[in-house]
Amino acid sequence: ITRGNQTCGFFTVLPDAGWGEDEPRMQTFFVVGDLLGVVMHNFDLLEQLEMRATHDGLTSVLNRQTLMDRLEAECQRTRRYELQVSVLVMDLDHFKKVNDTFGHQAGDSVLRAFTRVLTQAVRDVDIVGRAGGEEFVAILPQTGLHGASQVAERIRSGTSELRIPVGRSSIGVTVSIGVASAIGEDAQVTALIAKADAALYRAKRAGRNRALAAEAGDAP
Ligand code: GH3
Ligand code: MG
Ligand code: MG
Repeated sequence: ITRGNQTCGFFTVLPDAGWGEDEPRMQTFFVVGDLLGVVMHNFDLLEQLEMRATHDGLTSVLNRQTLMDRLEAECQRTRRYELQVSVLVMDLDHFKKVNDTFGHQAGDSVLRAFTRVLTQAVRDVDIVGRAGGEEFVAILPQTGLHGASQVAERIRSGTSELRIPVGRSSIGVTVSIGVASAIGEDAQVTALIAKADAALYRAKRAGRNRALAAEAGDAP
C-alpha cells in the first residue's frame, strides 16, 4: 500500500483452494492496494486541514474562533450542570519592545516559548488558545477563582523564569494575567471575558508581571 510515494503498509492475500496465481486477479489486488493508499492519504490531508482550521499556525494552540466556541460550550455546560468555570486572559508585557529590539523572528520564538510554559502549567482538560497577537486565553472547567489564581501564578512565575536564546544573548519576558470565574447561571462568555480583561488591565496598571483576580467592581 503506497501513500504518496511512500510504502506505508502491506496487505496479504492467503492462497485459497482453486485460486492459483492468475494474472487478472493479481492486477485486482494491486488496484485495491492503490485505492487503500489513496484513502489513507486523504485521511491525512483531512486531518491536516482540520488542524489548520482550528489551531494557530505559529504556536499550535487553539485559534481565536475555536477558543470562543469552546468557551461558549463550557459556559453552557456550567449553567446546565451548575458547575463553575474560570478564564485567564494573558498578555505579554512590553512585547512590542521585544520585537523592536530583537526582531520579529525572536518575538515569534518568545511566543512559542510562552505557549510551552502555558500548556505545561494547565491540566489536560483545560483549554488554551491564542486570542490574537501576544494575547492568550486559558479556560479552566470546574475550577473556582482560588484554583485558577494558583494556575495563573504558576504561569506568571514560569514565564518570568524563561530565557529565550537569540544569537549570543537571551531574552527574558513577563506576562500580566486577569483571572475571572463564574458559577452556574452566571457563566456567560461576554461577562467572563470582560471581567478577566478588567483584572488584566488592573494588573498592567499595577506594574505588570502579575496575576490579578477579578473583583466585584470589574465589569458586569
Ligand atoms: P503591554 O505591556 O501594555 O501589553 O505592551 P505591549 O508592547 O505588549 O503591547 P502592544 O499592544 O503595544 O504591542 C503588542 C505587540 O505584539 C505589537 C506587535 O508587533 C506584536 N505582535 C503581535 N502579533 C505578533 C506575532 O505574531 N509575532 C510577533 N513577533 N509579534 C507580534
Ligand atoms: Mg496586547
Ligand atoms: Mg502586551
